Amino acid sequence: MDDPLEPDTVQSELKILRSGVISWWRTQEFNFPWRTREGSEWEALVTEVLLQRTRANAVKELYREFFKKYSSIERLHDASEGEIRDDISSLGLHWRAEYLSSLGTELSERGGRVPEDRADIEDLPGIGQYAAGAFLTFQRHRRVTFIDANIVKLLGRFLGFEWDGETRRKAWFVDLADAFFDHDYPPAKFGYAVLDFTREVCGRTPECESCPVQKDCAFP
Ligand code: SF4
Repeated sequence: MDDPLEPDTVQSELKILRSGVISWWRTQEFNFPWRTREGSEWEALVTEVLLQRTRANAVKELYREFFKKYSSIERLHDASEGEIRDDISSLGLHWRAEYLSSLGTELSERGGRVPEDRADIEDLPGIGQYAAGAFLTFQRHRRVTFIDANIVKLLGRFLGFEWDGETRRKAWFVDLADAFFDHDYPPAKFGYAVLDFTREVCGRTPECESCPVQKDCAFP
């Protein structure tokens, strides 16, 4: 194939990938409570912290109980770090309790309001570029980029370049991810489609046989 990162080639390849991902997603049904719940913004941001590097099905199992207990940002603010750690112990990554505790304090002091600017959201405890981008996409329906290891893997396999743990921070890759997220679909739907596709199809073990973009994919 042509150089996968040559600008004209990459635009057409990304269009094929986006189209394949969203077409696949429209035939699927995934039921995660945070996608349908009309919660407040602070709940949506806390949910992104719970989902970080964690299986969505594991979060699903504790989601309702967690927000039943932490029914207000003040309740999260008042909880001790140890209490939060116990409540999320089934998710692993226990250091998250410290971030959730600090996030509860910060957002409580803001009256539960999440800042408007992406940079300010990224600066909140435990957030960063991925959670901020996901929050803006799913809660505020903005067309923004968010990058995690699964998205790096998807683009690397599909376009045929090698990647490692640092790839997501490289300027050329951020430009590539921006091009991938420069689409005309409803932002939340496209975001969910990418998350679901990288979990169910192009995951740890890619399901190439049933993949809708296999014929255009550079993965061997
Ligand atoms: S063909 Fe395989 S490697 Fe390529 S995008 Fe589909 S699942 Fe991923």
